[in-house]
Amino acid sequence: MIIQPKIRGFICTTAHPLGCALQVQRQIEYAREQSAIQGPKKVLVIGSSTGYGLASRIISTFAAGADTLGIFFEKSATDKRTATAGWYNTAAFQQAAHAVGRTALNINGDAFSDAVKEQAIDMIRKHFGSVDLIIYSLASPRRTHPRTGESLFSVIKPVGKSFTSQTIDVNTGTLSQVTLEPANDEEIRQTVGVMGGEDWELWINALNDAGVLAKNATTVAYSYIGPAITFPMYREGTIGKAKDDLEATAIRLNASLQKTGGRAFVSINKAVVTQSSSAIPVVPLYISILYKIMQEKGIHEGCIEQIYRLFAKRLYTGDTVPVDEKGRIRIDDYEMRPDVQTEVLNAWNHMNQENLTLLANLEEYQQEFLSLFGFSNEKIHYAEEVNPVVAVNPS
Ligand code: NAD
Repeated sequence: MIIQPKIRGFICTTAHPLGCALQVQRQIEYAREQSAIQGPKKVLVIGSSTGYGLASRIISTFAAGADTLGIFFEKSATDKRTATAGWYNTAAFQQAAHAVGRTALNINGDAFSDAVKEQAIDMIRKHFGSVDLIIYSLASPRRTHPRTGESLFSVIKPVGKSFTSQTIDVNTGTLSQVTLEPANDEEIRQTVGVMGGEDWELWINALNDAGVLAKNATTVAYSYIGPAITFPMYREGTIGKAKDDLEATAIRLNASLQKTGGRAFVSINKAVVTQSSSAIPVVPLYISILYKIMQEKGIHEGCIEQIYRLFAKRLYTGDTVPVDEKGRIRIDDYEMRPDVQTEVLNAWNHMNQENLTLLANLEEYQQEFLSLFGFSNEKIHYAEEVNPVVAVNPS
C-alpha cells in the first residue's frame, strides 16, 4: 500500500507504520540519553499509545528500566485501511522494549469497561504481581458507563456564556473568528462523566481490591490549565469542569493511598500537539505562538521532555514532591513563566493574516501534527509501497 496523509478537519485518517516507528524511536533515544531514573519497576499506563501516555510508557521503560502494561483503544490495519497511529506506535514500542529485555504487555480495548479492568488485573497478577506506578492519560470523546450502560459524550464548550475568539484553520493557515455557544447542564454532566475522575478512581479501587497495587504505589493523572486567553474555552469550560473533578479525585485518592505509603497526583502538563489537543478550537493557534516563543527562549518541550522532567525532577527525586497550593504537580512551569505569557499575549493581541508567520510557528505545528501519524519525515519515502499490517502482541 502507498500511504499518504488523508486529513479530515482536525484528524488524519491514515497513518504510516515506518514514520510512526521513527517518531517512537526518536522518543526512545531521548529517554536513553537522559540520566537513569531510580523509579518505578512495574507500570500500568492507561492511554498508552499516543501523546503523554506513550511518552510515559517510553520514559518508564527506557529511562527507569520498568516493565509496562499499556492500555489503549486503537485499530489494526485491514487490506484497505491503515492501522491507527497509536497501533503502529505500540508495535514499535513493544519491539524496542523486547530488544532490551523489558516486558511490554498490551490490551487494546475500552479502558472504561469492567472487562478491560479485569483483564488488566489478571495480566498484572500473572506477569508483575503488582504495579507501583499507574499513569492515567485517557483522552476520549465518549464513555459507556460501566454500571448504568449510559453513553456519555464529552463536548468542548464554554460554560455560562458564549465565547468569541480568533482561531486558525491549521490546514490552510486561515485566521477567523469563532463563536462557541455555552454548554447546558446536561452537556457539562456528560463531559465530567467522560473526562472527570470517576473512571480513574474505579481503576485504582479495582486494582486495590484485587491486591495488585503495590503498597507504596504512585498514581498520576494528567491535566491542563493554560493562559487566560483560553480559559473560557478550556479551563473554565466543560473540559475544565471535568479537570476540576479529576483534581478533586486526586485529593481523595491520595488520602486513601497514603494509608499504605502510596500517593496520587494530578500533573499539570504543558500544551503540546497531540490528536486530542488539535480537536480543541483556539488551542492550535495558541500552541503555534507558544512553540515559537518557547523555542526562541530555548525552553521548548514536547511530551517526552515533559514526562522525563515529571519523573526525574518531581516524582522520583527521593524528596517530597513539590506541588502547588492545590496539591498539583506543575510541569507547565516553563509555559506559564511570566515572560513567556507576556510575549504570547502580545502576539495574540496583534495577530493578523499578514503577520501570522512572524508571530506564530504554524509550519512547525503542521509538521508536528503530521508526524503524529508518521508523516512529514524526510527519512521516509512516502511514494514507496509499505505493508500496513503490523503486529501488536498481548505480551
Ligand atoms: P492523546 O489523544 O494523544 O491520547 C489519548 C490516549 O487515550 C490514547 O492512547 C488512546 O488510545 C487512549 N484512549 C482513548 N479512549 C480510550 C478508551 N476508551 N479505552 C482505552 N484507551 C483509550 O491525548 P493526550 O493529549 O496525550 O492527552 C492525555 C491526557 O493529557 C489528557 O488527560 C489530557 O487532558 C492531558 N493533557 C494534554 C495536554 C495537551 O496539550 N495535549 C496538555 C496537558 C494535559
